[in-house]
Amino acid sequence: MNKFYDAAEFFTAEEILNTQKRRLIEIFEILNNNKFSNFYKQRIFQHNNFDEVLAKIRKCDNKTDFYALFRQLVPFTTKQDLRENYPDKLCCCEKNNYVRMHCSSGTTGNPTAIFYTKQDLDTWSRLMARSLFAAGVRPDDVFQNMSGYGLFTGGLGIHQGAETLGCLTIPAGAGNSKRQIKLLQDFSVSVIHILPSYALHIADVIGGEENLKQKFPNLRIGIVGAEPYTEESRNRIQKALGVKVFNNFGMSEMNGPGVGIECEHQNGIHIWEDAYIVEIIDPKTGEILPDGEIGELVLTTLTRKGMPILRYRTRDLTKILGRDCPCGRNHVRIERILGRSDDMFIIRGVNIFPMQIETILLNFPEISNNYLIQLEKNPQTNLDDLRIKVEIKNEFFAENVRHLRNLQKRIETALRDEILVRPIIELVQHNSLPKTEGKAKRVFDLREK
Ligand code: AMP
Ligand code: ZN
Repeated sequence: MNKFYDAAEFFTAEEILNTQKRRLIEIFEILNNNKFSNFYKQRIFQHNNFDEVLAKIRKCDNKTDFYALFRQLVPFTTKQDLRENYPDKLCCCEKNNYVRMHCSSGTTGNPTAIFYTKQDLDTWSRLMARSLFAAGVRPDDVFQNMSGYGLFTGGLGIHQGAETLGCLTIPAGAGNSKRQIKLLQDFSVSVIHILPSYALHIADVIGGEENLKQKFPNLRIGIVGAEPYTEESRNRIQKALGVKVFNNFGMSEMNGPGVGIECEHQNGIHIWEDAYIVEIIDPKTGEILPDGEIGELVLTTLTRKGMPILRYRTRDLTKILGRDCPCGRNHVRIERILGRSDDMFIIRGVNIFPMQIETILLNFPEISNNYLIQLEKNPQTNLDDLRIKVEIKNEFFAENVRHLRNLQKRIETALRDEILVRPIIELVQHNSLPKTEGKAKRVFDLREK
C-alpha cells in the first residue's frame, strides 16, 4: 500500500518553497493577463512592473526573502472585498469555462460566491482525497457523508474527494438520525464525515451503547470539521461513536474542505502548503506573528486558476504549532481553530470565546451534548447577564433537587474561574434545546444594540 496519495504530501521544505514560487508566478500571470477581472491587476501591477516582479520572485532563493517579497507586493483581501465584487468580479476566465459555484455560509449581507473551472474541481478533489488519505481513509472504505449538500462545500467537496480516492461514497446529507444510523449499519460504513455539533447529537442518540462494535463493526474514522470544536468534544465523539476523529479544515473562499487535516498523530492541522500560502497575523495591526502566537489565519490559493484569492483574511484564530511532524510531512501544522474573531463576545468588559465555555461544560459528565449561550440585559441591574442553558443527561436529570442545585453551582464556579464572569446556569432536560441541521448556532445576543 502506498504511503501517500500525492507525492507532494512528503515534499521537503525546499520543494514546498519551489512549488510555491512556481505556482505564484502562474497565478500572477493569470491575474495580469486575463481580460475579465481587474481586481488584483490594479492592486498588484499598477505600481509594479510585471516582468520585474517575476524576475524578483525567481531570484528569491530562501523562504524569508520570498515571503517578504510576497507581502510587499500583495495586500490583504477581506470579506468586504469579496462582497463588493459579488458575484463574479474576481473571475479570471471566460464564463463558459466554469462548471460549478458554491457560496460561503455567511448569514449577513451578500454571500461570497466561488466559481470553479473543471481543472479547479479536479485539483480540489485531489487535495480532498489527499486529506482523507492522510487521515487514514483508503479506497476500500465505505464513506458516509453526513453533511448538507447544496451551496455548502462540505457536501459536494467532501463527496468528490471520497469518490476520487475510490471510496464507496454515500451522500446521506444532513439530519434524520434514524436514517443515518440505518445507512451506517446496512452498508457497513467505515468512515463518516460529520459536523461536530451533529456528531455530538448523534452521539447522544447512539453513544455509550455497549454493543457499539457489534452494531457498527467497521466504523473507524470520523472526519470532523466545518465549525470550531474543542478537544473535549473530540473525546466525546470518539468514545460515543467508536471512531478516531480527525480535524478537517477548509472554507469556500479557499475551495472548501481539503485545505488541511490532521494526520494519524492528531497533533494539529497540516495545511497543504504546495497549494496554499499560510500566514498568521495580528488581527489589529496586520503584522506577521511569530510561530506559536495566536492570531488570524491568512491564506492564499496557489492552485485555483479560475478565481485566485490572495492573502485572504479568514478571521479564523489559530497559531502555528510546528513545521515538521512524526508522520514525515513538512506541511505546517496549525492549532485547531479557536474561534472566529467575530465569534468573540464581550460581557461586562470581558472578552469571551464560545469555545472556552464548551471546554468547561463538556468536562462535566452529567451534561449531555447540547448547550446554548444567551446574552441578556438585566432590567433590574442594567448589567449584561450571561445565561447558559445546558442539557442534562436523563439519568442525572432524575436526581433530586439538592443534587441538581449542587451541579448547577459547580458548573457556575468552574465557568467563573475560566471566564471571570459568573454565568446564570439553567439545567434543562435532554433534547429540549433547538437543534440545527447545518452549522450550530449556539450564541444568541438578546441585548439591545
Ligand atoms: P464556509 O463559509 O461554509 O466555507 O465556512 C468556512 C469557515 O468554517 C471557516 O472560515 C471556519 O471559520 C469554519 N471551519 C471550517 N473548518 C473548521 C474546523 N475544522 N474547525 C473550526 N472551524 C472550521
Ligand atoms: Zn503529521
